[in-house]
Amino acid sequence: MSEIKRAEVALLRCEDYEDRKLDAIIAQAAEIAGFPDVRGATVLLKPNVLNASPAAKAVTTHPAFVGAVMRFVKAQGAKEVLVGDSPGWQPGTLAAKACGIYDSVQQHGGMWVDFKEATPFPIANGKKLKHIPLTTALKDADIVVNLPKLKNHRLMTYTGAMKNLFGLIPGTAKSAMHLQYPNVADFGQMLVDLALSVPRCFTFMDGIVAMQGEGPGSGTPYPLGIVIASQRVAMLDWVAARCVGYDPWRIPYVLDGMQRTVGNESFAEPATYPLTVAEIGHEGFELLPYGSSKVGRRLVSIPNSLRTLAGSIIRLRPIFHTKPCIGCGACIEICPAEALSIERKHRSNLVRIDDGLCITCFCCHEVCPAGAITVGRAPLRLVHSKMRNVSPRGKGPRP
Ligand code: SF4
Ligand code: SF4
Repeated sequence: MSEIKRAEVALLRCEDYEDRKLDAIIAQAAEIAGFPDVRGATVLLKPNVLNASPAAKAVTTHPAFVGAVMRFVKAQGAKEVLVGDSPGWQPGTLAAKACGIYDSVQQHGGMWVDFKEATPFPIANGKKLKHIPLTTALKDADIVVNLPKLKNHRLMTYTGAMKNLFGLIPGTAKSAMHLQYPNVADFGQMLVDLALSVPRCFTFMDGIVAMQGEGPGSGTPYPLGIVIASQRVAMLDWVAARCVGYDPWRIPYVLDGMQRTVGNESFAEPATYPLTVAEIGHEGFELLPYGSSKVGRRLVSIPNSLRTLAGSIIRLRPIFHTKPCIGCGACIEICPAEALSIERKHRSNLVRIDDGLCITCFCCHEVCPAGAITVGRAPLRLVHSKMRNVSPRGKGPRP
């Protein structure tokens, strides 16, 4: 039998979610990238369960992919398999049921965990963080197996392994981090602080069907046909971003992650096996523009009225479309800046935005289940004082 070659990043072809094929690919990827010994261990699987979307939309990690990794870790001798996530505004169980992950967990004898409770975890050598509240499920786990979906991301350009670990922060505490770090560069450094501090972490990425266009919640599926695995989250992200046509040198948090991982500002491209990045076709994959570190920066040095005007003209911002809006209130609930309100008029839902408060984190865009929010340079929205007193779902002023 020929010896399997080891590489920092395993990059393999996998065209669909057929169980037997997945089992073989996951085992091969694990061997190439050096999956750790999990005999007798409690393993926490962290898929991307962004919201309650069917698997075919490619918003979440595919349930068959989660199932294959469960079979693999059990075959490796894991004692217990926990699977969990925390969508920004919906209950995790609801979202996991909608995408099929909950059923897959039950079928494979695992335990679904809603990340609700948090406990502070220390961050070693963080640029932004010293501690961060993460799910208490981490305390029960000997190892985290990170299962991201390869997607575009409106705020961060690309999302994958490092960003998926941001979901270890329970519930709306995630959007509070946007408020704390409204500048994209700062937010990205915080993400890297967190991702590089998760102890004993191995990643299998679902790039079989990726998300192009308006990711992470409103893009369209793209049959990319790959699985990527690594012990190094930043290296995996570097390779994944390249596989769909991005230049990761222009994605600040991916670059920061790589530089911190290798301990150097300049570095060689991570070695992949058995495929090279050049062998991955991504024709027609709809990329997003590279972000700017200025996106999300509050314009603090000018009066509020001018800030509103400048913000509307210069900045990319969320644009709310009345026709597809179903009035669910998710955008309002998730908004860390309390910049949104909703008015119901003639059976239509009119979401209004206060441009002076908006920090352009695009959390609203991320969670909208109806594709009713796009991102662009919209005409001026005049926000008057009355608007600030309209609370979510018109129930009176915000406390
Ligand atoms: S309106 Fe949307 S983009 Fe603006 S702060 Fe709120 S969630 Fe973020
Ligand atoms: S814009 Fe989207 S998230 Fe906001 S209320 Fe309408 S459907 Fe819900």
